[in-house]
Amino acid sequence: MEASTADAAAAAAGGEAEGPLFTLELSQDQKDIRDWVHGFAADVMRPAAHEWDEKEATPWPIIQEAAKIGLYGFEGLAQFFGDPSGLLLPIVNEELFWGDAGIGMAIMGTSLAVAAIFGQGTGEQIGEWIPRCFGTPDDVKVAAFCASEPNAGSDVSNVRTRAKFDEATNEWVLNGQKAWATNGGIADVHVVIATVDPELGSRGHAAFVVPMSEAKGISQGTKVSKHGLRASHTADVFLDDCRIPAGNVLGGKEKLDERLARVREGKRGKAQAAMQTFEASRPTVGAQAIGIARAAYEYALDYAKEREQFGRKIIENQAIAFALADMKMEIDAARLLVWRASWMGRAGHRFENAEGSMSKLKAGEVAVWATERAIQILGGNGYTREYPVERWHRDAKIYTIFEGTSEIQRLVISRAISGMHIR
Ligand SMILES: Cc1cc2nc3c(=O)[nH]c(=O)nc-3n(C[C@H](O)[C@H](O)[C@H](O)COP(=O)(O)OP(=O)(O)OC[C@H]3O[C@@H](n4cnc5c(N)ncnc54)[C@H](O)[C@@H]3O)c2cc1C
Repeated sequence: MEASTADAAAAAAGGEAEGPLFTLELSQDQKDIRDWVHGFAADVMRPAAHEWDEKEATPWPIIQEAAKIGLYGFEGLAQFFGDPSGLLLPIVNEELFWGDAGIGMAIMGTSLAVAAIFGQGTGEQIGEWIPRCFGTPDDVKVAAFCASEPNAGSDVSNVRTRAKFDEATNEWVLNGQKAWATNGGIADVHVVIATVDPELGSRGHAAFVVPMSEAKGISQGTKVSKHGLRASHTADVFLDDCRIPAGNVLGGKEKLDERLARVREGKRGKAQAAMQTFEASRPTVGAQAIGIARAAYEYALDYAKEREQFGRKIIENQAIAFALADMKMEIDAARLLVWRASWMGRAGHRFENAEGSMSKLKAGEVAVWATERAIQILGGNGYTREYPVERWHRDAKIYTIFEGTSEIQRLVISRAISGMHIR
């Protein structure tokens, strides 16, 4: 029921409408933005997808095109994020990743660093660093969020990159190696998770802003050659006596010192710096997976209605039609979980039952499964690079791995529902 209809119904019943009733009806604004992003995904990203996947290179011209129309940049992201229902950010992500996941990640990879700065930075830091993450339409930049290390993947608490404060120069000195960083080394702004006090475990971590163009001692390691998302750059990042000003710790040094003092006194500190960022971004990452799954489903549906074997369309066989019915149902179910978590996050509800993890887990697994089904429906054609479904399958697989593997999401959910330390 639309809000206006709900108001009318409430008025007729002699009562006042108390805010919007539950609705999954998108507002005209949301629909307009969805259609605008879809247009960019269909007209610009889809036609370029194969080329950039083969090149395994960052599609700078497409990021720039997105910046020119306001799709890539601080204002755009703020508008998507600012939607009071919380749904616009996942809607935009679904459309972009429907267009292409590799290029989609090249465009949205910056947002993880932005989320960290926005979530943990002071007002001044937000104003200074977030615009720098994007650059300008004439000189676009990307940003990187560097938490993982060779020995700290699922176990982020094992981060060994060390941040020491040098009183003499009023600077932080960072040393360590970051692994698999999206945009690592090509970003202007790197948000680096490092430990300030290793004895405190993950509660001794903090997030630091390292600007590539100014800081000495930060460099890119080997660029990773990947199974999917190949238009998105992934690389190790080395920090070798990397010096940054005292003010580059997110939240400020004073707050960090206070927090560490509380933890040392045995009082509970806030959740670890990397986890705060991942928890908030999981539903959005789930929406990306849904975009890939939906692309594969739509393609397979059209194909099944065209392709004939045994004198009839292959969709006329229940085996194929039922697979498509299941794909549609699972994708819609995953989207509902993503929308619920996105709404909860925006409305300030705690994820009591790890609803953020649930949404990412379901969406990632549906994407892998649905893209595999799509290959099956296309038969031999599905297995070739002449058709896009094999790329979608390769792209989908990362969604059971990054931002917390499926096993880690199940761990988070089972701990939340049981209140026990499941291992
Ligand atoms: C393309 C790509 C982009 C990435 N981008 C970024 C980025 O921008 N920033 C960043 O910081 N990181 C990034 N990562 C890193 C990513 O987040 C990690 O790869 C991921 O967290 C898994 O860590 P791992 O690879 O070390 O696997 P491991 O932690 O070694 O896990 C290996 C296997 O063991 C399982 N496992 C581990 N512990 C448990 C447990 N307790 N119970 C049950 N099973 C367990 C895992 O689920 C998995 O199946 C990226 C990775 C890739 C591939």
